[in-house]
Amino acid sequence: MDKLNLESLLRKNIQKLKPYQAKEIPCKIKLDANESPFPVKLSDFISEINIHLNRYPDPEAILLRKALARKVKLSHENIMPGNGSDELIYYLILTFGGPVLYPAPTFAMYGIIAQSVGVETVECSLDNNFDINDEEFLKLIKLKKPRLIFLSSPNNPTGNTFSTDKILKIIEFAQKNSSIVVIDEAYQPFSSKKGFLPFLKDYDNLLILRTLSKIGFAGLRLGYLIGEKNFFYEINKVRLPYNVDSITQYVATEALNRFYPQIKKFICQIIKERQRLYRELLRIQKIKVYPSEANFILLQIENSKSIYRKLIKAGILVRDLSSVINNALRITIGTSEENEEFLKTIKKILGET
Ligand SMILES: *Cc1c(COP(=O)(O)O)cnc(C)c1O
Repeated sequence: MDKLNLESLLRKNIQKLKPYQAKEIPCKIKLDANESPFPVKLSDFISEINIHLNRYPDPEAILLRKALARKVKLSHENIMPGNGSDELIYYLILTFGGPVLYPAPTFAMYGIIAQSVGVETVECSLDNNFDINDEEFLKLIKLKKPRLIFLSSPNNPTGNTFSTDKILKIIEFAQKNSSIVVIDEAYQPFSSKKGFLPFLKDYDNLLILRTLSKIGFAGLRLGYLIGEKNFFYEINKVRLPYNVDSITQYVATEALNRFYPQIKKFICQIIKERQRLYRELLRIQKIKVYPSEANFILLQIENSKSIYRKLIKAGILVRDLSSVINNALRITIGTSEENEEFLKTIKKILGET
């Protein structure tokens, strides 16, 4: 019998892809994935999970959408939850197609998902301050007529927000050119800037993406899209009926309704620690550190790859970004003890004690 040649059966766009590397390197201190460092246990806010697992989840996730809607002061009709915001990015590209335009460097999933769906991707390099190169960006909108534009602000992995004026200019120009703009606000809770919720009513081509992942619930897998309900009518055509399971619906609703003050306290602690870690890193000669509005800090350092490996040997895992930005590492903000340990270790590695 002939051996099955799986690769020859792949759709063309899948042949070029590699599986997303989410492998775990076990380390005592985990500062690589922009998670919250504060353990959240179910029993912190739930005494009993009252769910009938023999039944399908509520396909419309009404209670959860109402809880999310209260937080952003909109109606539940303006909310679509998903299995992480990754799933919602997938649905957006599946529904509207490409080209998909985004700045570079940014969150990798916009490009990966577009490629796996088989639509064209268009990248526009950020300027020297990691802000949007708006002239170039508008040119690409006009030239490429993208169906979707993704702007992560604060941006992952650079940590800065893009300037509000430039984003507004892009939204307006995109509106004239019939492009949808998705502002990915995964890190908005950590930002000192206002965000784009107040602009939703002004632009019919604007959507906002949020997630619970970076504020303590990465394990739950819950993201949500905010916008006018006509978008959701269309996206519902491709959405799998039970994409948010009963347990996630229940737990997320309880977390939002009963645990929110604690979530906010954790966020405040992370912001304070970010400011402290930033000041401390500024004092280390061999490190170039970038200001951040998110729950991580980007830095550049000579021989970053070797330093990355030495940190792992010392039990500290950070994100090696050298393939994206020259000699760059991304450090997620941990607890004050973890940040202290990180500082001590990197100073030791650099001989700057
Ligand atoms: C982490 C991250 C996400 C993914 O969030 P999930 O809800 O966990 O899928 C989306 N966008 C950006 C910019 C991120 O950094």
